[in-house]
Amino acid sequence: MNDLLRIDGSQGEGGGQILRTALALSLVTGQPFRLERIRAGRPKPGLLRQHLTAVEAAARVCGAVASGAELGSEAITFTPGAVRGGDLQCSIGTAGSATLVLQAILPALLLAREPSRVVLEGGTHNPYAPPFEFLDATLLPLLRCMRARVEARLERHGFYPAGGGRLVVDVAPVDRLTPLVLLDRGPVQVSARALVSGVPVGVANRELAAVHTQLDVPWASLEPVEVSTSPGPGNVLLITIASDAVCEVITGFGEKHVSAAAVAARACGEARAYLDAGVPVGQHLADQLLVPLVLAGGGSFRTLAPTRHTTTNAAVIGEFTGASVAMNAHDDGTCTVTVSSDGVTRA
Ligand code: ATP
Repeated sequence: MNDLLRIDGSQGEGGGQILRTALALSLVTGQPFRLERIRAGRPKPGLLRQHLTAVEAAARVCGAVASGAELGSEAITFTPGAVRGGDLQCSIGTAGSATLVLQAILPALLLAREPSRVVLEGGTHNPYAPPFEFLDATLLPLLRCMRARVEARLERHGFYPAGGGRLVVDVAPVDRLTPLVLLDRGPVQVSARALVSGVPVGVANRELAAVHTQLDVPWASLEPVEVSTSPGPGNVLLITIASDAVCEVITGFGEKHVSAAAVAARACGEARAYLDAGVPVGQHLADQLLVPLVLAGGGSFRTLAPTRHTTTNAAVIGEFTGASVAMNAHDDGTCTVTVSSDGVTRA
């Protein structure tokens, strides 16, 4: 049995990602850990529903012994057992992000012995989290390039704050992933969809008009979508930038008292920065690719200047595994990230 690894949850970004990365790596390496000062960098520290659901899901996937797994807890000890696929139902019970819960368990399920079906209920379109479309169009196709066999489908939208969405993920496991290199992007095609639920469609149309003007996207590539299945109201602008290398999805989340023009301007600004940098990997994808690359035995990608999520994730990965994550900054403000790892094979 490995010695208990102690991780400081207040380091760097100090948020929930440290917990999810620790859970994901504990499952695939068998390394027990104690995480203290959980989410110390947040105004309301400790485990929220989304984080507690991630701990419980990870524990069920491998029959772990977990202590401190309670709402508000600021420390947990997690001793994993052998990973088993199968059917798993995770109900977050709030608008907590379903795609973030998945971050904690998907790496292990990709390499499990049995196929899995995971049903996640909660938020599918939350601010500060990957929306379903990012999972489906950006992350999963890249994992499939690395040999993973994984598909996701959205059964019901769950917008913040009501939640109540539902997504289903099917995994047919493989014994190992292969490295990924994403250094160039090539020509792009830009399109956008604006989703509204219980919100006038004019909001979607105003957001798309801003995308038309600010990013020069033709009307034929812009689509308003009225969502009828969501339990609560919501509005999301999804800008898709597709190239041969990757399909990036940049999201603007509608908020009360924030105009459609302001929501669109923020998303267009993020899209413009990505387009101008000429890199394949956007800022959110960068932090989310690190764990898969560690599993795969390495890889590299070019991205924008690393966020604190990326640098913090790299630090946690370093503490957990022998992998190194090198970030080589270029004069133009972009960065090449190189992961060197022995890789992880099915236990
Ligand atoms: P906390 O409440 O502690 O901030 P959290 O658990 O909700 O934490 P973070 O630790 O902040 O979340 O991690 C957020 C994750 O969501 C990161 O992996 C980040 O890249 C991803 N993310 C945030 N916004 C987007 C977006 N618009 N598109 C794709 N991914 C996103």
